[in-house]
Amino acid sequence: MKVHGPYKRKSDGRQIVIIIENNGKRRTVSYPKWLMEMQLGRKLDPDLETVDHVDSNIDNNDISNLRVVPRQEHSADDTRRVKLVKFTCAWCDKEFERSPRLVRDKAKKNKAGPFCSRGCAGKYSRMLQLKLVEKLDVQPAVDSEYYKRKYVKASFPPISSDFFIDFMCDIWEE
Ligand SMILES: [Zn+2]
Repeated sequence: MKVHGPYKRKSDGRQIVIIIENNGKRRTVSYPKWLMEMQLGRKLDPDLETVDHVDSNIDNNDISNLRVVPRQEHSADDTRRVKLVKFTCAWCDKEFERSPRLVRDKAKKNKAGPFCSRGCAGKYSRMLQLKLVEKLDVQPAVDSEYYKRKYVKASFPPISSDFFIDFMCDIWEE
């Protein structure tokens, strides 16, 4: 077995090695993954394991900067996150941020809003019940804008703001 490299892959700047097996077969392997396999003395399970750079610097392939992480965890951290969109509360005119998906879901259900808080949503529905206010327009639907959440620190907050908002919105549902 011969190993060539590491080479920097143009497409994503990641380092790879080219392994030429005894039977002449060539395969391209991620350099950090190959280093980890050498260190562990075994192959990584491509379905379950992946190699992660502790400091997020893909050029820092020092073995101390590499760790094996379960594939699921790794892809969850790389997952697309929805960018929050600024809205104005239909009740108190306060500006707030929310995932566009949640607002879109409510628009689909012909719900009025958006509201900045459970308090404002509650006040509106009470006033509506007492017929003290006109029914507000259905909130407008918005398109989601995605961005990739950077894999910056190991100590990312355990609860994302998106999750928190999801949770809050569920409380508002009557
Ligand atoms: Zn409000």
